[in-house]
Amino acid sequence: MNRNIPVIIPYFTDSEAQEISKVIQSGWVAQGPKVAEFERKIADHEQVKFATAVTSCTTALHLLMACMGLGKGHDVLVPSFTFVATANSVEYTGATPVLVDVRTDTYNIDVEALGSFIEANYRLDGKQAINRKTGNILFAAVAVNLFGLCADIPAINALAAKYGFKVIEDSACALGAKIGNTFEGGFGNPSCLSFHPRKSITTGEGGMVLTNDPLLDEKLKERRAHGASVPADKRHLHAGYLLPEFDELGYNYRMTDVQAAMGVAQMEKFEFILGERRKRAALYDKLLAGLPFIKTPFVPQDYLHTYQSYVCILNNEHLGQKDIGAYRNRLLGELDAIGIATRQGTHAVHSLGYYANKYGYKPQDLPNALYCQEATITLPLYIQMTDDDQNYVVEKLCELQKKL
Ligand SMILES: *Cc1c(COP(=O)(O)O)cnc(C)c1O
Repeated sequence: MNRNIPVIIPYFTDSEAQEISKVIQSGWVAQGPKVAEFERKIADHEQVKFATAVTSCTTALHLLMACMGLGKGHDVLVPSFTFVATANSVEYTGATPVLVDVRTDTYNIDVEALGSFIEANYRLDGKQAINRKTGNILFAAVAVNLFGLCADIPAINALAAKYGFKVIEDSACALGAKIGNTFEGGFGNPSCLSFHPRKSITTGEGGMVLTNDPLLDEKLKERRAHGASVPADKRHLHAGYLLPEFDELGYNYRMTDVQAAMGVAQMEKFEFILGERRKRAALYDKLLAGLPFIKTPFVPQDYLHTYQSYVCILNNEHLGQKDIGAYRNRLLGELDAIGIATRQGTHAVHSLGYYANKYGYKPQDLPNALYCQEATITLPLYIQMTDDDQNYVVEKLCELQKKL
């Protein structure tokens, strides 16, 4: 008998429906007290001062970049192996995403290569790095904490200090991820979270920006709500009949209290969810240890991986395939045919049509990102899974690999 094993299932109990029902009974369903409560809970957990809930991580990234002043004439370094939304949000601002390569063990930015890349392509003019070819200012880098593992943020911050750019953390997958005792978002950079059902906890759709900077926080909260602000000299009036001022271009990126109610209920079980995911990941590590055809996710010392996704990579030094991508796809197809859902890790953004066409990238320009796109496999991982399910996945993976 074949089983039916999906890649992920969100984990709900009765409390999500109960919290949502309370919000509906209260009559206040748009952004209100529940959103504020959810923001407080996430900020406290990640040990940052401020949080701004929005409609997705994509809008979180866009809002943050807009508030930081990104625009035309700015370069933003983005690792190519990430979900396309990371680069898209840079595009929305008119800035130029400059795609850089990643490591094939952590799947995160290769900081050493990044240093050489900046050195080769930018010149320092005072405190700013200027693109030698286009004259663009190197404004920022997005450090993507992919699949629940932090990038080497301290090293990226050191480069940022040297070349005068800002760092944004894309923590869509990384709620709860740490280096040492510091959570993502706690390294002096603003960070963006996602609450899509594919991530550790969910609000259906949803996202959040975290920061320790009170001025940035104020801007984020104004511009997520159409840019509405009440000038300091009118605040004491509390005059509800006066419309606020609109001095900045704003958006409607507000999360609803209905979504936040689900988030509050999810956050109550976050430690449990994280603990269970880490236990399941440890079991995969054990079951897959020593298999020469595949490598399990690498976790540098002192890093806490949250395993939003459990992403392995095929070892082509062992397999010796001419076309590792085609081989991986056949393997995933065979698994799918017997009811085991898997995915490629994510894509290499520089090889996607929009970016290849607009900026002239060739697949081989960023060989590691390309290899990750072709050789990674996300295995099913969810709370409701049993040890037996995991044994079955690994057994079938090995069987089919031998057969191919
Ligand atoms: C999921 C994801 C996003 C987008 O999140 P949404 O909430 O779906 O907009 C952005 N970046 C990364 C790395 C992601 O994994």
